Amino acid sequence: MNPLQLARLIRRTGRVAEPAPPPPSAEGAGQFGPPRELAGSAQVRHVDAGSCNGCEIEVGAAFGPVYDVERYGARLVASPRHADVLLVTGVVTRNMLEPLRRTVAATPRPRVVLAVGDCARDCGAFAGGYGVAGAVGDVVPVDLDVPGCPPEPDAIVAALRRVTGR
Ligand code: SF4
Repeated sequence: MNPLQLARLIRRTGRVAEPAPPPPSAEGAGQFGPPRELAGSAQVRHVDAGSCNGCEIEVGAAFGPVYDVERYGARLVASPRHADVLLVTGVVTRNMLEPLRRTVAATPRPRVVLAVGDCARDCGAFAGGYGVAGAVGDVVPVDLDVPGCPPEPDAIVAALRRVTGR
């Protein structure tokens, strides 16, 4: 197929994608009201504070081509200084206590701290462990959380859609 034929085929076919599901309702989000500055687009820095890496697999899937949370305006970035949202997984281990505090301090306001997984919410399976300093909410203020061990990618996508409103 020559480039002209290809261009015609692309034009004829148009855009082929399933319509996006409606934005998630505020139900279940508690008191969370996303900062209006983040409407439509939010940069996300992931912080592993002491996870078993199960949550990371699901976070990876949420940003992968199947669940594709980027289409709702959430994008991963490499530095908290570029981020609007800190997506924190795992319990907070003693070694990550201070780094997590510093990471939150390095993130410009308005920011959202999202605790993903049961460990991040309430220490989950690692509650009482000798190396555990606490859940994420024991160390830094948490705005929104996602339950599950690990949470499904759909739930992570829904939480990020609450931030972007898309
Ligand atoms: S919530 Fe489950 S999957 Fe996630 S870090 Fe804890 S033990 Fe691992």
